[in-house]
Amino acid sequence: MKNIAIIGSTGSIGRNALEVIEDNKKRFRVVALSANSNIELLSAQARRFCPPMVCVTDISCGAKCRQMFKKHTKIFLGQEGLEAMVADSSIDKVLLAVSGTAALVPFLHALDAGKEIALANKEALVMAGSLIMRKAKARKATIIPVDSEQSAIWQCLDGNDKEKLKQIYLTASGGPFLKFRKNQLARITVAQTLQHPRWKMGKKVTVDSATLMNKGLEVLEAMYLFGVGAEKIKILIHPEAIIHSMVEFVDGITIAQLSATDMRIPIQYAFSYPERLANRFGCVDFYAIKSLNFEKPDTKRFPCINLAYRAASEEGTLPCVMNAANEVSVEAFLRGEIAFTSIYKVIDKVMDNHRITRRPSLGDIIESDAWAKRRARLLIQRAR
Ligand code: NDP
Ligand code: MG
Repeated sequence: MKNIAIIGSTGSIGRNALEVIEDNKKRFRVVALSANSNIELLSAQARRFCPPMVCVTDISCGAKCRQMFKKHTKIFLGQEGLEAMVADSSIDKVLLAVSGTAALVPFLHALDAGKEIALANKEALVMAGSLIMRKAKARKATIIPVDSEQSAIWQCLDGNDKEKLKQIYLTASGGPFLKFRKNQLARITVAQTLQHPRWKMGKKVTVDSATLMNKGLEVLEAMYLFGVGAEKIKILIHPEAIIHSMVEFVDGITIAQLSATDMRIPIQYAFSYPERLANRFGCVDFYAIKSLNFEKPDTKRFPCINLAYRAASEEGTLPCVMNAANEVSVEAFLRGEIAFTSIYKVIDKVMDNHRITRRPSLGDIIESDAWAKRRARLLIQRAR
């Protein structure tokens, strides 16, 4: 029996993870759940799974919390509460399914406490990849990816000599605007953006998928997770989203991972690894698939990809700054304050304005993140 903490249980990944656990009650037990402010859903989840610990990071919910959970449930509050909860000795594995930069500090605390990590969040690795991977190595902690592309690469590399890797093909469905012309992109609405053709996800990652910044973040995520230079990571548009990524070795052999488009599959694998468990989540029906298509991404229409490669080649604090400016720009777009195409413009400007710190400490990362968010907000305010 593995004791699992789900950090961000009220989100899209968190809810899928609970379904996986519900189907495998004899193998996985929920010992901790967390949300930011959705305490109604969190308390419904707590009634169903009876975890001994819950955490709510938005402290303004504190008073209401006490009435919503059973007496014997230990309630943690705020960011500090979350940091304490992930380190609890009863936890074997922590699923990090919080969106955005908020995942970084709990991630580091979970590593310090020697927990195995199932990693859905990508922003923390983009912000502080070197630092996180150094810590994971020092603690001998395993980080098992949940993001479908990284899970695919992890599986394709398994049992192979990484030194013999030639390149990685990171696949991308291309999002809802794959066929849009450049002049159409400026007029895109929030509602159009939230209609992803293949995946049902949280708002932030859905917008990132539409700008293709999601793929840019994944280039950085793969670079740190697998210790591979970004020049070896190629983005490949594959609209059917059946192949979740591929690796090519020096002998010309390419290994691909294919499965149904359902996040419960990589979540379950991250929980059961190295074992494989049967499930009801479907599989690829090769007789029904007529064709699989591939194309090169168009960086003129989707220039966020270029920003990510720039951040990957410069490194230091630049990936963190790119990620922070993206987070603020996406929030502004969702509030209707900036156009879809301005997301790129704001990030580009903030990156231009940044003086990079090489080999950053955690303090440098936190400072750069705050600086980039302030800078992005200022640029957005001035443009309005
Ligand atoms: P959602 O927006 O659906 O859920 C986010 C979760 O994080 C919620 O539980 C939310 O709580 C919580 N949360 C939000 N802000 C904070 C905060 N400041 N402190 C603590 N908790 C917070 O996101 P997704 O599930 O879609 O994505 C989660 C992560 O996984 C992202 O990094 C995303 O890029 C990655 N990912 C997602 C995929 C998907 O299919 N959804 C696929 C691959 C990767 P509350 O509900 O109370 O707001
Ligand atoms: Mg992905």
